[in-house]
Amino acid sequence: MKFFEHSAKRIFRKEGIKTLQGVVVYSPEEAMQASSEFGKPIVLKSQVLTGGRGKAGGIKFAENPGEAFEVADTLLNLEIKGEKVKHLLIEEKADIQREFFISVSNDRANKRPIIMASAEGGMEIEELAKTSPEKIIRYHVNPLKEFFPYEAREIARKMGVGSDLISPIGDIIWKLYNIYDKYDCEVAEINPLALTDQGLIAADAKLEIENDALFRHKDEMERNNFKKKDFAFVKLPGDIAVIGNGAGLTLTGMDMITLYGGKPATFLDIGGGASEESIKMALDLVLNYSPVKVVFMNVLGGITRADDVAKGVIAALESSKRKVHMVIRLTGTNEEEGQRLLEEAGIPFEISMEEAAKKAVELCEELKAQEASEE
Ligand code: GDP
Ligand code: MN
Repeated sequence: MKFFEHSAKRIFRKEGIKTLQGVVVYSPEEAMQASSEFGKPIVLKSQVLTGGRGKAGGIKFAENPGEAFEVADTLLNLEIKGEKVKHLLIEEKADIQREFFISVSNDRANKRPIIMASAEGGMEIEELAKTSPEKIIRYHVNPLKEFFPYEAREIARKMGVGSDLISPIGDIIWKLYNIYDKYDCEVAEINPLALTDQGLIAADAKLEIENDALFRHKDEMERNNFKKKDFAFVKLPGDIAVIGNGAGLTLTGMDMITLYGGKPATFLDIGGGASEESIKMALDLVLNYSPVKVVFMNVLGGITRADDVAKGVIAALESSKRKVHMVIRLTGTNEEEGQRLLEEAGIPFEISMEEAAKKAVELCEELKAQEASEE
C-alpha cells in the first residue's frame, strides 16, 4: 500500500525525522484559511499516490490567501497520471539551499534491502541515475544483522557531503532504514532531503508498506485511508454548539441542552470513525461560527477512538485564535488515553452526557451574565 505524503510524513516525524508541520485541505476556502493562519509564503502539494508531481505541475507556491485560493482551485481540478487530486498538503514554504536523495527499498535480484543516496537529489534523480549513475551511492544491508549508525555515516561520507553534514545525514539514513524495517516497507524514501535554514528536513516523503504485512500496521493504514468527512452541519439560532458522532447522538445532545434550558447553535454530526483531522476540521467549523459561546461535544468512542478525538480537540484549540469554552463528554474506545490527554491539556470532560450538557448550559449562563455585567 502506497502512502500519501502527509501520512508518510506523520510516520517519519513519529520516528524522529524532521518535516515541516502541514495541514491537509480539501477546498480553496480551506487553503485560503490555512494561508492566512501561516501568515507566510506556503507550498501547496497535491496528494496523490504517484510520484513526479512537481514535473506534472502538482506542486505550487502561494504568497498570500488570495493566491492560495487560486492555486488550490487549480490543483484540486488537476489529474496527475490519471489520479484526481482530492486533497492538498499545505506547509510553510521552505527556503531550500540543497537537495539530497536517500531511499531504502527491496533489491529483489540480490534479495536484500538496498540503500541509495545522492548529494544531487531533487526532481532530476531519474535523469541522474541514467547519466551519472556513479553519483548514486548504493549499499546493501544484511537484513539478518543489525544496521549500525556508523554504516549510515559511511554512506553519508561516500555521498561527498561536507564534513558537518556527515553525521546529521547519517542519522537520517539510519532512521529511514529503521522505518523501512519496522513498518515492513517496500520503499521508504526522502527526495528531496532539504538543507534549509532550519536544518535538514524531509521535504517529501514516500512510503510503501508490503501488502501482506498490512495487518501489522492497521493504525497507519486507517490513517492513510482517511477521507474528507461530509459533516452534517446545521446552524441554529442559539449559542451552544452541539457536536456529536452519529445523528442520533447529536440529536440527543441537542435535546439535553434544551432540557437544561440552553439553546443549540449548531447541529454537527461528525459521523463514525472520525479521525484526529476530521475532529479538528469539525471544531474549526464551529469555532469560526461567531454566535457560539460554548461547545458541547458529545462523543461515544466506537470506531472513533477517544484518543484521536482528544488530539483533534487539542490541535483545534491550539490553532484557534478565538477562545471558546468547551465541555466534552468522552467515553468509549481508548477512553483512558483520551481523558489523560484532555486532562494534561486542561480541557474539562465528563463521563456522563447529562452532567456534560448541564455544565455546558451553566457555563453559557455564567458567560452571558459576565458579559451583561461588563456592559
Ligand atoms: P515530487 O515531484 O512528487 O517528488 O514532489 P516533491 O515533494 O519532491 O516536490 C518537488 C520539488 O518541489 C522539490 O524537489 C523541491 O524542489 C520543490 N519543493 C517542494 N516543497 C518545497 C518547499 O517547501 N520550498 C521550496 N523552495 N521548494 C519546494
Ligand atoms: Mn519528491
